[in-house]
Amino acid sequence: MLQQKEEQILVVFPHPDDEAFGVSGTLAQYANAGVPITYACLTLGEMGRNLGTPAFATRESLPLVRKEELIKSAEAIGIKDLRMMGLRDKTVEFEDDEKMVQMITDLIDELHPTLIITFYPNYAVHPDHEATARAVVRAVRRIEEAKRPRLYGVAFANDTLEGLGEPDITNDIRDVKEQKMASMKAHSSQTGWIIQEEEKRQAEGDTAESNWFTDEAFYSYRWDKDFENKF
Ligand SMILES: [Zn+2]
Repeated sequence: MLQQKEEQILVVFPHPDDEAFGVSGTLAQYANAGVPITYACLTLGEMGRNLGTPAFATRESLPLVRKEELIKSAEAIGIKDLRMMGLRDKTVEFEDDEKMVQMITDLIDELHPTLIITFYPNYAVHPDHEATARAVVRAVRRIEEAKRPRLYGVAFANDTLEGLGEPDITNDIRDVKEQKMASMKAHSSQTGWIIQEEEKRQAEGDTAESNWFTDEAFYSYRWDKDFENKF
């Protein structure tokens, strides 16, 4: 159930498949409601650990495999504007801070999103996730307070509940379960094991639905508890 009406959504994550797990259901609901979505995916996940057994890809071909997977996932969700930003996987944290912020600012200036979705700084686990979250928050922070788009963060660090409390937004996504499944399936080089487990569970008649396919939770970014004083 979507809680806000949006005009344009901007999603920013560093890796192909970041969108599949935490937000693809919510994005599918927005897409189905006709809201335009731009997904800026910063890298092609070319350092992904899984090359398959037997190998389905080499280090050289993995970016191409993951690019195809990303396109398929975006199609499954209904994302019509997919941007591959061309940064290098596992090195996002070493990108120049100001360059990162400028990249996000340019997207905001072009698209005028009413909602931006990214990771929540300090609760995003992976260094690339953290670097992405920092850049997005910094870019939005530079916008005059009254004109800022809504900013939702995906948080999944172990101490999330301790630090941020319960998420303030929870979307029931059961009506778009098939789309989420298709998005996750599209990234089969990385998510194959989850899909297999889910299908096995269903085949065995386990009717309890797993969390992946029931709801998605977000935290509205807390400007009153900003993760850094200034940048
Ligand atoms: Zn990731």
